[in-house]
Amino acid sequence: MSVRKQRNTKVFSPTTLQDLLSYYRDHPGAVPFAGGTYLFLSKGPREGFGGELIDLGHVSELSQISRTERYMEIGPAVSISKIINTGRHVMPRSLYAALRNIGNAAVRNHATLGGNICARSHRLSTYPVLLLLDVRLELRRVGNTRWVNLNRFISGDEGPLLEPGELVTRIRIPFMDWDVEQFRQQERLFTPEHFIFCGVVRKQKDVISDLRTSFCIGNRLTIRTRNIEAELIGRKLPIPPEDGLEMGRMLHQQIERNHPEMDKFNVHRIRRSLNWFLQILNDSE
Ligand SMILES: Cc1cc2nc3c(=O)[nH]c(=O)nc-3n(C[C@H](O)[C@H](O)[C@H](O)COP(=O)(O)OP(=O)(O)OC[C@H]3O[C@@H](n4cnc5c(N)ncnc54)[C@H](O)[C@@H]3O)c2cc1C
Repeated sequence: MSVRKQRNTKVFSPTTLQDLLSYYRDHPGAVPFAGGTYLFLSKGPREGFGGELIDLGHVSELSQISRTERYMEIGPAVSISKIINTGRHVMPRSLYAALRNIGNAAVRNHATLGGNICARSHRLSTYPVLLLLDVRLELRRVGNTRWVNLNRFISGDEGPLLEPGELVTRIRIPFMDWDVEQFRQQERLFTPEHFIFCGVVRKQKDVISDLRTSFCIGNRLTIRTRNIEAELIGRKLPIPPEDGLEMGRMLHQQIERNHPEMDKFNVHRIRRSLNWFLQILNDSE
């Protein structure tokens, strides 16, 4: 382990998980970073960026990828490039698309999945995808290890929900054999217009056996429309155009009811994304 000092900033670089967790317990005000590509971009009090940093990048336990028959586990400090290269043929295609969309090759060489999930002020590219994939996170602090579902770790405006001295130490992504997966990101990151749609579907012959969709607007508000999902599960493909229109109307009403503050443009985008996805589903027969 080492401690570097630069101007007013002190950087602690542990090489073992034990040293990392002990240091973080004793310095709960220190800010952990992995690639640093988000933290230093957003540099400011919102991310808690202060005088003391902990570099997660030298802890080997946090930099590994492993897999079983049922899931793949990714260390939070593994670079996005490495995840893409190692997991390309096994990871869900929607996640692959989200990872490929992050920045450029230079950014992806440093950026990590842990940092993408744990950004406090924004919901970043992988969040609406991971939300659909039943992802679980291992959280550790000295003397305690627990597993949480991503939808409990970050829920609505809340989260990431970490105890003092606690870090994400593993990200578990189940393999679920989706038949159709779509990820679409529009407009510039960190602008109110930024928009992500993700949809995944499993079919049994021509019947929808599972369907999940998420929409993320302005890098913050993330919506799942479970009643529309429930309406579609069990339906036979193709979905007739009039039923597609009815789903669009239901979605519209739901958003107006639950998010009255949302502007018409975004309501329209959400509705259009659902239409587009249903079209892809019909074509996938
Ligand atoms: C040019 C450019 C383009 C970009 N484009 C995109 C894009 O298209 N989509 C996108 O999503 N992002 C984008 N980003 C932002 C960023 O690169 C990614 O979100 C990246 O995945 C963040 O990972 P990181 O390791 O760099 O995070 P860091 O900056 O290291 O950390 C981010 C936050 O997570 C916390 N954290 C990190 N690891 C842990 C952990 N294990 N436990 C608890 N907390 C932790 C940190 O304290 C910090 O608050 C871009 C950045 C740049 C510079």
